[in-house]
Amino acid sequence: MKLEVDVAIVGSGAGGGAVLDRLLPLIGQGLKVAVLEAGPYFTRDYFTQREVEMMGIFWGNGAWPTADGAITMMMGKAVGGSTAMYTGVTFRAPDEVLLEWGIPGLTPEDLKPRYEALEQALNVHAPPADFVNDNNRLFKEACEKLGWPCEDLRLNLRDCDQNGYCNLGCVSGGKQGTLELQIPRAIAAGVTLVPNCTVERVQDRTLFAQVQPAPAGTQPGPYPPGPLEIKARLIVLAAGCPGTPALLLRSGLPGLCDALGRYVTVHPAVTGFGIYPHPIKNYRGFPKTYYTPHFSKSHGYYIETCFYYPFSTAKSVHGWGPEHRSLMRRYNRMLSILVLLHDPALPANRVTLSRGQAKLIYRIHPDNIKALAHAQASSAEIFFAAGCDSVHVSLADQFELSRAEAAADPGRFIRPENFIPGTTPVSSAHPQGGCRMGIAPKTSITDPLGRVHGYPWLRVADSSLFPKSSHVNPYLTIMALADRVADGIFADRREFLP
Ligand SMILES: Cc1cc2nc3c(=O)[nH]c(=O)nc-3n(C[C@H](O)[C@H](O)[C@H](O)COP(=O)(O)OP(=O)(O)OC[C@H]3O[C@@H](n4cnc5c(N)ncnc54)[C@H](O)[C@@H]3O)c2cc1C
Repeated sequence: MKLEVDVAIVGSGAGGGAVLDRLLPLIGQGLKVAVLEAGPYFTRDYFTQREVEMMGIFWGNGAWPTADGAITMMMGKAVGGSTAMYTGVTFRAPDEVLLEWGIPGLTPEDLKPRYEALEQALNVHAPPADFVNDNNRLFKEACEKLGWPCEDLRLNLRDCDQNGYCNLGCVSGGKQGTLELQIPRAIAAGVTLVPNCTVERVQDRTLFAQVQPAPAGTQPGPYPPGPLEIKARLIVLAAGCPGTPALLLRSGLPGLCDALGRYVTVHPAVTGFGIYPHPIKNYRGFPKTYYTPHFSKSHGYYIETCFYYPFSTAKSVHGWGPEHRSLMRRYNRMLSILVLLHDPALPANRVTLSRGQAKLIYRIHPDNIKALAHAQASSAEIFFAAGCDSVHVSLADQFELSRAEAAADPGRFIRPENFIPGTTPVSSAHPQGGCRMGIAPKTSITDPLGRVHGYPWLRVADSSLFPKSSHVNPYLTIMALADRVADGIFADRREFLP
């Protein structure tokens, strides 16, 4: 089958949705736009809130492994991309991060009005008091006791009914992802959405894709299963990381430099647990409402609250057999904390291909392992200050640290040498980079407005543009960058659009 449009967008997550929204006025004037999305079109009633049933909404069932198996990656494979199952925690990139990126024109002043407009559109606000469950309340009280700053995690919610299953897809539609906002608006305006459509290659303003059958219970698309060729005047790649770098690598476009696929960062994430003396209610309210930036500048990590479902929790517990079972039996007394590390952008950490499919080669930097040990000692301090009887963190000398032995100085028991790649549980939901922006075609893949060097009809608008890590949860910055990409499209409008 063949399709001809003015603009084709690959991927419907944070980046794709933000570009789509900017094109709406032109769509109203007759611009033909298609969105090609590898994932199915799930609607709210699909999201059963059952953990095992919902893992199919992610690439690799929610545990897509890095090449060495040391990190399990979470990326959405759905209309809405990862915003269909993100938590909606909303950060602006810190000014010092943007300055360190050093991309001409990409300044705090440039992003400020974009952030403001996006935050207003997505109804970003501090969590109301009744959203704060025990895990979050105790975290805040502990930070206050320790004298560490504890900030609100701002959330992009509207009419959230606090089911607490945000990462399994939102059954009430409260979370403001592109599945709820941008995609329905675009469809109403006449955009062609093709779900279950994996783009394999891009060449000469043409995308070569394969449409798969729609899984049971999802909305079917307009094309039958089989090959689909999409011709467009302008093509926007918003398949995320590793999706966009993998697509460009498969396409083999001449002239792109060796940076393609490289400089990937992931914010390695590690969960720690405290055991409270009696049952607490963490599965209601909102899972994440606070964080402390106390160690961001000094040691390179954030500590955020988190609370996950039983299987995800079991996966984050370091160990096996009776000890693991004994900890999981106390699930209803658990406090949990997520450490997010600021990882360096290194050329060796890269997306490559294995039989045409994306593969991520990534090694956790030794400095990050040191920072993780420090972060786990800080987490243990928080757990003990919150009143926990014991703490389980993966770099401790023993499975569980009791209050009596460790509360005075938990750091004595937590050491970087205890990190075992592939055994110490590490995950990531924030892959970034692989098509870094820049000025020079010798060191970057796109210019600061996402135009692929040497291919003016080809743009990138997703997390793969990041030249280095954002340090903070990235979706808002991805949308703000996509908004800049849309500026570039408008600037070149006469050249490409009817
Ligand atoms: C569980 C979870 C929780 C998160 N929570 C937060 C949070 O609270 N705050 C925050 O800031 N960030 C959060 N994130 C991260 C955030 O959602 C992502 O960083 C962001 O959505 C990435 O945007 P993107 O446009 O680059 O890619 P995505 O949103 O992932 O969209 C890319 C889309 O492209 C599709 N695609 C890939 N390859 C192809 C192909 N070849 N052909 C067609 N389509 C393709 C994918 O299926 C996907 O739908 C979370 C992520 C997850 C998974």
